[in-house]
Amino acid sequence: MNLDVNTLFMVTVYVEAILGLLLLFAWAQNTAIHAVAWWGFAHLIRAASVMLFGMFGQAPDLITIDLANALLFTAFAVTWTGARVFDGRPVEPVYLVTGAVIWLLVCRLPLLNDSLDVRSLIASAIITAYTWLTAYEFWRGRNEQLVSRWPAIFMLFAHGALFLLRTPLVALMPWSPTNNIYGSVWLTVLSFEALLFTISIAFILLAMAKERTEQRHRTAAMVDPLTGIANRRAFLQDAATLTKKHNAKPRPTAVLLIDLDHFKSINDRFGHALGDRVLEIFTDGARQSIRSSDLIGRLGGEEFAAVLYDTSRDKAVAVAERIRETFATSAMDVDGRPVCATVSIGVVVCQDTVLDIPELLAQADNALYFAKEHGRNRVEVASLEMILARRGASPVSSATAPADAAAKSAA
Ligand code: GH3
Ligand code: MG
Ligand code: MG
Repeated sequence: MNLDVNTLFMVTVYVEAILGLLLLFAWAQNTAIHAVAWWGFAHLIRAASVMLFGMFGQAPDLITIDLANALLFTAFAVTWTGARVFDGRPVEPVYLVTGAVIWLLVCRLPLLNDSLDVRSLIASAIITAYTWLTAYEFWRGRNEQLVSRWPAIFMLFAHGALFLLRTPLVALMPWSPTNNIYGSVWLTVLSFEALLFTISIAFILLAMAKERTEQRHRTAAMVDPLTGIANRRAFLQDAATLTKKHNAKPRPTAVLLIDLDHFKSINDRFGHALGDRVLEIFTDGARQSIRSSDLIGRLGGEEFAAVLYDTSRDKAVAVAERIRETFATSAMDVDGRPVCATVSIGVVVCQDTVLDIPELLAQADNALYFAKEHGRNRVEVASLEMILARRGASPVSSATAPADAAAKSAA
């Protein structure tokens, strides 16, 4: 196959410019991720650089070699800066131009100016340094679970390695037997690789930004911002998934409904901010009292629920007691204030082969009502007597409907 270098250069200029504009357009649509704009500019700078390379022989070397390379290195530095910005690190203006400055100084040294190999080695080293630094920035941010982070790291590493190997490979296989740089097979191979790399990296960087945006939207829709646990919607969704698992392999499953005692009074006495702090303290303690496989969610206000799969009645009561005691201890004194907050917990254990979470929550609500009625700061397990007693005691209470459902199911 014969690839004409001039055609490749022209295609590369267009591709770089289009990719740059597309990235800037994507950024304009969602300006929250500034890195996308940095990456867009990097492609535009590279388009300008390749255009200058393409003018080799028709314009002074100062422009087609010195300036073109300086622009190329700056483009890689801008991509690296974008990676820093992507993970919330500051821009480093000095390092942003270091590659270009080193290159321009090298070009001024007569000794090096005459040696194509040494200049090529320095150019490769600068590109490899920026490319590997970009990969390193993405690697540092790996705690954020983005699938597209890994192909980005791999591609940047591979591209940097290729540039580093370029000089030794060229030594084995000279640029061109005719000493005409345009006749060099290397120029064709490297230009082609650069074109493929630039298309792939633009795609993968955009995929990273998109994945992060989607992840943030999903988190905002599913996670309670104050406590960091599942909100009502996510909890019920996770519970529905667990229901399928249970129905396939039925095991005793406990549902806990938890409500902080006299929380309104805590807000009134100590302020809403301290009330928020109490909710956080409760969540931290409750999370530590259950297994990582158990579900916990904030149903709303100061009401929480947990689902414990494969848990007997005794175990469920023990877990509920642990949650209650942990909270009573940790919320006795909050930020130096004598808060003495407590919780009441209603427990129900399903031994059936079919799990119905909304119905179990309704039954746990009866037990919770009972715990509140009997002095608060206690754990109660749901029973048929409770349902009947509650129906008799409070036929028009807000929880009558769930109690009715539970009574029907229990009857
Ligand atoms: P009981 O023991 O019977 O459950 O009484 P309670 O005061 O806990 O229950 P009530 O339903 O009367 O009050 C709940 C309070 O929870 C009222 C509301 O202002 C407060 N609340 C709801 N969400 C939040 C929140 O996110 N932060 C804070 N600080 N307070 C909240
Ligand atoms: Mg309450
Ligand atoms: Mg409540």
